[in-house]
Amino acid sequence: MSRYDVAIAGGGPGGAYAAKTAAELGLKTVFLERARKAGEKNSSGCGLGQRWWKDFPDEMEEIVKLPSYRETKHCVFKITDEEDNLVTTLSTGFTRKDHERIVHKGIFRGMSGTAVYRSCLDPFLADLACKAGAELRTSTCVTDVMKKNGRVTGLVTDKGQKIEADIVIGADGAHSTVAVKSGIRKRFQKNEITLVPQVDFSCNESRLEDVIGGANLVWFGPYCGAYQVNFRDGFHLGLGQWLDIWDTKPVDFVKRIMQIPAFQAMCRSVDAEMREFQIHLLPWMPHPPKTYADGVMLVGDAGGFPCPLEGEGIWHACLTGKIAAQVAAKAISTGDPSEETLKEYEQRWKEPPLGKEYEYGREYVNFWRNSAFNPELMKKIVLFIGELQYLNFPGPVFDWSDDHMTIFNEHLEHFLDVLPDLSGFAKENLVPLGKGISMENRARIADMLAGSIQTKLRGFVPRWPIRALLGKVLGVK
Ligand SMILES: Cc1cc2nc3c(=O)[nH]c(=O)nc-3n(C[C@H](O)[C@H](O)[C@H](O)COP(=O)(O)OP(=O)(O)OC[C@H]3O[C@@H](n4cnc5c(N)ncnc54)[C@H](O)[C@@H]3O)c2cc1C
Repeated sequence: MSRYDVAIAGGGPGGAYAAKTAAELGLKTVFLERARKAGEKNSSGCGLGQRWWKDFPDEMEEIVKLPSYRETKHCVFKITDEEDNLVTTLSTGFTRKDHERIVHKGIFRGMSGTAVYRSCLDPFLADLACKAGAELRTSTCVTDVMKKNGRVTGLVTDKGQKIEADIVIGADGAHSTVAVKSGIRKRFQKNEITLVPQVDFSCNESRLEDVIGGANLVWFGPYCGAYQVNFRDGFHLGLGQWLDIWDTKPVDFVKRIMQIPAFQAMCRSVDAEMREFQIHLLPWMPHPPKTYADGVMLVGDAGGFPCPLEGEGIWHACLTGKIAAQVAAKAISTGDPSEETLKEYEQRWKEPPLGKEYEYGREYVNFWRNSAFNPELMKKIVLFIGELQYLNFPGPVFDWSDDHMTIFNEHLEHFLDVLPDLSGFAKENLVPLGKGISMENRARIADMLAGSIQTKLRGFVPRWPIRALLGKVLGVK
């Protein structure tokens, strides 16, 4: 039996970052990975968001040197209709404000994220942990936890090894053996977890640069809602689906997207060739369930931390790994790894920036569950997006089929026809998100609307308390 201060199950981002932090804090640390090397069994690639520059700047400086790195600057939505024709394209674009948001060493990183293969990222993070002094054991699967008087006191491996530790950290992903065996929670329910099939393609690097450059793509329509993350010389296409939704096999949806003419054209233009097919599980829920017990904490996917709006989870895994290791160090220094002491872990991850992710978790999850998985509604949303775009420049200007005002009115009429079909969805799924609009912005909206209404009504009903009424509707003084 070997003995450590901290024993961690899993050598993904959460486990590696927990190990790095614990070792840096002087704790004798081991992390166990079932694969032959870190990242071997994990999703082919990932996008790291802009906040990495803010929260993990040292790592990010090295990550951009990894061989599969591609800078991502924006996200382009390819919207398809029910016959899989590409009908319009939307982009996240840039604003001046983005460039003010994150500045690292004088360089604006407001919209600049990173895409790298996990086969590059995970070994890089694991290596940081080893350099800090943690011990990594690969080809070692955790099969159980050790317990004494209800407290988790170590890990048991498939090789029959017993690893005793003051604190155990479960960083063993969506299937987490530690979570279940320690009794913190049961397996995730079907409505808490998504199945994500993913196809990886190799492609010609310079053509990818010419054709796609710094974009990630989203293929979006009645029968698809798939992301395409692009790397230096390859990309992957995947989509997530809750296990309790849709009878159709998720793999069939991926196949359908691969048949979309615009997708195939994109593949031809970058010389794409399919090279790998994977299926993973990704927790996707409004907020994490319980994440600690006597002697044990759960980080990353094991804790249910991925973002409830779009499933980003690597930043969350590293941050929770870091917090868990810091709480472990404190508990070990006081000689008290009890549940009561480890409560601090939950208190800390609930603080901003991480805790804010889950403030609207229920609303984010509902938004997707009630839209992307409802083909009938999606058909209308696609029409709505098309008409909305048409009513803006350059739609009416470049339609030369009739006089422009007639054309504009025809589209406005169609837009107004579609609108009532979506009002139920908007009322149930968008209005609740309105709670997130800050009081300051609500007051500004109320002031502006009241000012403009008052100007229009001047001389007719001067005494109407328009600002007060709007304030009431918007929930602001
Ligand atoms: C297809 C897909 C695409 C994604 N894309 C992105 C993205 O672009 N950006 C982003 O931020 N997030 C993305 N995510 C989410 C992200 O991958 C996860 O949130 C993140 O990897 C969580 O890190 P983790 O360390 O908690 O878990 P994991 O990355 O799952 O790591 C867990 C590790 O533990 C090991 N392990 C599991 N069980 C055991 C055991 N019993 N014993 C020993 N070792 C074990 C595994 O082999 C693995 O290495 C994606 C997820 C999927 C499924």
